[in-house]
Amino acid sequence: MISFEKSKAVEQTQYLLKTVADNMMRPVARYFDDNEHEIPWEYIEFMHNAMKQMGSGSLVPEPDDKEKKEEKKDNKPRQTYQIMAHTIEMLSWGDGGMYLCTPRGGLGSAAIETAGTPEQKKRFLSKLGGEKPVFTAMAITEAEAGSDNSAIKCRAVLDEKTKEWILNGEKIFITAGNKAMLDSEGFIVVWATLDPEARRAGIRSFVVEAGTPGAKITKMEEKHGIRASDTVTLVLEDCRLPYDNILGSPEIERSTKGFKGAMQTFNVTRPLVAASALGIARASLEEVKAMLSERGVEIRYGLPRQKMTNLEREIVDMERMLRSSWLLCLKAVWMSDQRKPNILESAMSKLHAGDVATKITHKAVEIMGPLGYSREYLLEKWMRDAKINDIFEGTGQINRLVAARQILGYRGSQLR
Ligand SMILES: Cc1cc2nc3c(=O)[nH]c(=O)nc-3n(C[C@H](O)[C@H](O)[C@H](O)COP(=O)(O)OP(=O)(O)OC[C@H]3O[C@@H](n4cnc5c(N)ncnc54)[C@H](O)[C@@H]3O)c2cc1C
Repeated sequence: MISFEKSKAVEQTQYLLKTVADNMMRPVARYFDDNEHEIPWEYIEFMHNAMKQMGSGSLVPEPDDKEKKEEKKDNKPRQTYQIMAHTIEMLSWGDGGMYLCTPRGGLGSAAIETAGTPEQKKRFLSKLGGEKPVFTAMAITEAEAGSDNSAIKCRAVLDEKTKEWILNGEKIFITAGNKAMLDSEGFIVVWATLDPEARRAGIRSFVVEAGTPGAKITKMEEKHGIRASDTVTLVLEDCRLPYDNILGSPEIERSTKGFKGAMQTFNVTRPLVAASALGIARASLEEVKAMLSERGVEIRYGLPRQKMTNLEREIVDMERMLRSSWLLCLKAVWMSDQRKPNILESAMSKLHAGDVATKITHKAVEIMGPLGYSREYLLEKWMRDAKINDIFEGTGQINRLVAARQILGYRGSQLR
């Protein structure tokens, strides 16, 4: 049964993170927006140490002994992804760009969590708990393969003599790629094809660790929003990897099983992107209400719609969008925790939150007029930051296709 009551772990996490957001993120949010490519080390170090002290791989607090016993007794399901969603929502409320600089997490480690063997999890994820912060990233996108990732050209070939993989190709728009490869001893999970003719059936992911010869960052993007976060191009030139750096089976089956395994990462990460979008949207909505209140305008909740002012109706609509989207997100992460198949819920939560965050942050700027547009406030920044959630990890259009296929029972080839 899905429960809407916040667990003790969620409440503790939110309390801690609100302090981080208020004191370490908001005060420097404008600075890192103005100074793209500077790294918020103070925040990063703090988060790294906080996670270390909690003795966990992420900000999710380990349940205490009493809670563990209760979980066993009541057969309570895990809440890892639910807590992560609350965590990400709150950090993104603090600053969406800085949240993407949080060490340890990232798409790279999510891919290993989802598709790695127990040995690979141990080998790669244990790096995250060391003395220094470590970042991970995932590189799928290429100049001619974004939404249609079956067109991936980055090639992986096995050197039969040395039993090493040799990767060649160029990957673009990699979030946190610079931090993973140059600012820490991290890694990027790179999608490459074993056989371009095999399309999706030939695609596998490979772990490329920082310092691997032949792996070079060649470009840092200058972006519209989330400017605290780095987005880079990675060039692979005869980049040799140990045999065990492939995630999943090296056999090319006629089916797309291997590819589907890699895609499973998105079932857990898309709702988390939704959570980030909704954190930014909540920040905008709360700010507008506070600015209106300072100017003597209070929203009269509970009135019949026809008795409200247009402004009140707009604010109530923003609240409705935000809350309904959060419920979709909660359902999707709850299903991740239950290990239930959630392709549909995950795509729906992401596409809905991408839409809603874009609309709410735009509306916030519109309602406050010149104050919304001014760089004196963060509303214009949040409008820029929110949009990415409608683009990466599958655009709104692509997630609509994914959801539609699930609802109508079509395969990818039947509805594209
Ligand atoms: C800041 C930033 C960070 C990113 N981080 C990462 C990362 O960490 N790792 C990574 O691999 N990638 C990353 N990306 C890339 C991102 O995932 C892609 O840009 C996105 O998937 C879209 O792919 P594309 O750019 O090739 O656009 P295209 O696929 O060319 O799409 C262009 C437009 O056409 C639409 N479209 C495409 N196909 C269809 C269709 N069949 N039906 C309807 N509409 C369609 C799309 O929705 C979009 O509106 C990042 C991008 C940005 C901007």
